Amino acid sequence: MIVNTVETPSRLTAHDRCDRCGARAYVRAAFAHGDLLFCAHHARQYRPNLDQIALSIDDFTASLTEPSAN
Ligand SMILES: [Zn+2]
Repeated sequence: MIVNTVETPSRLTAHDRCDRCGARAYVRAAFAHGDLLFCAHHARQYRPNLDQIALSIDDFTASLTEPSAN
């Protein structure tokens, strides 16, 4: 079966947590075996490697600059 996927990445929510430290995730890196989530801190730390090994990277760190309702 062929399913046409929409190229709009689903946004990360407060339920998505960094796989390294458990903080809220802002970056999703897609791999053949699944996705890894990273907070802004760890995304910066791993980004050079992610750019080389990840199939695709969804970066939502720009949303960090949006005013928070909290
Ligand atoms: Zn982290």
